[in-house]
This record gives sequence, structure tokens and C-alpha cells, in this order.
Amino acid sequence: MNELSNSLAAADIAHQLHPYTNARAHEEKGPMIITRGDGIRVYDSTGKEYIEGMAGLWSVAVGFSEDRLAKAAYDQMLKLPYYHTFAHKSTEPSIRLAEKLAEMTPEHLTRCFFTNSGSEANDTIVKMVWFMNNALGRPEKKKFIARHKGYHGITVASGSLTGLGGNHRDFDLPAIPVTHLTTPHFWREGAEGETEADFTARLLKEIEDTILAEGPETIAAFIGEPVIGAGGVFVPPEGYWPGVAALCKKYDMLLIADEVINGFGRLGTPFGSQRYDFEPDIMTLSKQISSSYMPLAAIMLTDAVYDVIADNTAKLGSFGHGFTGSGHPVACAVGLENLKIIEEKDLMGNAARMEAPFQEGLRKLLDHPLVGEVRGVGLIAGIEFADKTTKVNYAPAGSVAAKAAALCTEEGLIARNVYETLALCPPLIVTEEDVAEILARLGRALDRLSDWAK
Ligand code: PLP
Repeated sequence: MNELSNSLAAADIAHQLHPYTNARAHEEKGPMIITRGDGIRVYDSTGKEYIEGMAGLWSVAVGFSEDRLAKAAYDQMLKLPYYHTFAHKSTEPSIRLAEKLAEMTPEHLTRCFFTNSGSEANDTIVKMVWFMNNALGRPEKKKFIARHKGYHGITVASGSLTGLGGNHRDFDLPAIPVTHLTTPHFWREGAEGETEADFTARLLKEIEDTILAEGPETIAAFIGEPVIGAGGVFVPPEGYWPGVAALCKKYDMLLIADEVINGFGRLGTPFGSQRYDFEPDIMTLSKQISSSYMPLAAIMLTDAVYDVIADNTAKLGSFGHGFTGSGHPVACAVGLENLKIIEEKDLMGNAARMEAPFQEGLRKLLDHPLVGEVRGVGLIAGIEFADKTTKVNYAPAGSVAAKAAALCTEEGLIARNVYETLALCPPLIVTEEDVAEILARLGRALDRLSDWAK
């Protein structure tokens, strides 16, 4: 390491508390400082090159060197670096982006509320749902149904919806009324002798039984990611989502699709709810909305949801909710340009075309002695380490996935260990050659993993 990276590392250790990091281990190990990006690649402070197989945090659709986004930010900064959207004020970028999102998302989603992050968006949704049900004169209809291993963020309400112990432990969460039900993951959760159709039926029955036990008059909404991402990449069983949608309709519950990872082509369809054939009442969008070049998230609403909220704001005199950065003009200008690039370069179509080489290439890893399951759709995948026959993960918990991620890093591929799974989620700009190179680097890392495990 050169002098600059040494002094940066020392300052990082001295002054920064990192998210999702063991702070004491970090003090020993120090940071990996990423200094620049180029297409699907990033470089660290020693000059080492990596393919960013996770698109940052499942988010950089257009790659790490898109000049058009830099220009969109610069131009907007010069013209109007900031203005808000409170109290009837608006700005051209927020208006154009809201219009663009209404055009791109399924037709029934027409209204948009902007936040800075996915967590803020889901927190806002919780408040919107409560606001709505109070307005409708059913103040007891406030509970949420979510799933174990679902990820919806880390703020007090969104972190409560998240179904991962690591996000609850010692944070006093869940702090809102939420019930977490079975992860829709057939390979692990399917019972002995159960078909995928039986499994779906059992999960739907679990949801319905929960609604009936709690009382339908108390359950406000069901929230889920079409394909679960950060909890370990779980693809739902056949028929699951249309079944969930039917239950929401039957018991007058709102259906919330958290498409923070799935949205804008990740699954090979524009939105995950389209791949799984259901129509949410509310959709959460972030990450690929701006390729994370700027913090930005959006909540899409139907007219029906909007109308109840709008009527209540008229009754109360205002919508008592909003962020300083809601509809930030620079973030929105970048988001708008990013979506134009996604469309012009047909990156959603590219994700669909790359699905076969990517997913089929990864399925070959099933031959690996430590791999239990390979799963995924479009350009998102998970490789779970477990005994193939018993499905038992290796001890200590998470150690094999962590080692696999470390070996990938050494081989020049950034992948992410989430619990027992190694996740991959490359930028949507990947070519067939890039996919082959990702598979080659991964293959070398997993060969070394076998040696390590011996
Ligand atoms: N929802 C989903 C599905 C996510 O994957 C994430 C982040 O990974 C969030 C919400 C939270 O977004 P943020 O990290 O921007 O708060």
C-alpha cells in the first residue's frame, strides 16, 4: 500500500463506524478502499482490479463510469442544486421523474412519493398504510405480514418488517405489529415428499390461517420482495404470488411489492411483480432507479391508495410527512438520465438475454462438493453452501460463504456472503464475455475453497 492509502486506512479506523461490519475486526483488518470504477470493474487503492459481481449493493445497473450521469448531476447542480417539494413547491426533475416512473411501472401505479433510501420508503409506506386506515375509520387495521429472511431496510419500521435476526437483535425490533411467515424457499422449507405445488398451497394456507387467527380487521398489508435478495436470494415457488394477491383481495389488505432490488430489469422483466404475475397496490423502488449514483427511492401508489391519502390531507390540512431530500432535483435528474440509459441501451432486455448464460453457468457449480443449492433468475443468484443430501449448512455458521467471498475477492471478483449463501448480482450492462469471466473467476475461487475445506 502507498503512503496515501496507509494514512486513509488509519483515518478510517480512527473515525468511521461502518455499516454491516464487525467494528473490532475492522480495527485490526482495516478497510478495502475503492478508488475508481470503469464499466463493470472497480479498482482498490493498491491498483488491484475487480469485477463488481454485486453491482455495488445490488444497484449499479449502468456500471461505474457512466459520464451521462455525471453530466446530468453537474448540469442540475449549476441550474438548481437544491429545492424541496414541500408545501406546493416542485422542481422539473422531480416532476419529470415521477411522470417517467408512472409510465415505466405497471399501468395501475400512477402516483409517486420520493425518499432518499429504500428504508425511508418502506418506513413511509408503513405510515401511509396507517394514515390510510385511520382515514377509512378502521384504526385497528394496522398489522403487517412479512416473511422470514425478507429485507425491507433498517429504520425502526422498515427494520421491523425485515425478517432477519441480525437486524433485530439488541435493536429492540420489531417495534411495530408484524408477523413474519415462512420464507418461500422450496429447497429448504419444503417438507419431505411435498411437491412445489403442495409447498405453495401450504404457505398460502399459513398466510390465511394467520389472517384468520389475528382477525382480518387487524391486518393491513402484506409486504414482500418478489425475489428475496439480501436475505439470501430466494425465488418463490410456482403460483405463490398470485395466491398472495388473491388473499390480499379477499381480506381487503394492501399488497406491497418491495422492488428495491428487483425493479428495473434485475429479473429479466421490467419489474419483479411482472415476472410473477401480480399487481401490487404499492411498489417500493430504489437502487437501480439511479444506479445508486445518487441516493434516491420512490414509492408508487395506485389511484385508489392515493385518493384515500389525498382526501385525508384535505381533511387534516396537510400530509404531515416528508424529507428535506424528497424529490431532490439532482438525485431526480440523475435518476431520470439513468432510466433513459436503461431504456436506450435496452439493459432490461440485456438482463433477460444474459439470464441463460449466467444462470446455466452457475448451475454447473452444483457439482462442487460444498455447494447445496444454486438458485436465481435474471441477473441475480445465490449459491448456498450445505451438504447436498442432508441440506445441513457447515459449522461455524456462515464460515464457508465468508471464505468463498474472500477467495472471490482474491481472484478479482466481488461477491457477497449473506449468511450461508454467496450472492451475485452483476451490473445490467454485462456482456456474454463478462459473464464468462465472472464464472471463470468464481470457478477458480471455488476450486480453492475445496482445497481450503480439506
Ligand atoms: N428493500 C430492499 C428489498 C432492499 O434490498 C433494501 C436494501 O438492500 C432496502 C429495502 C433498504 O434500502 P436502503 O439500504 O436504501 O435503506
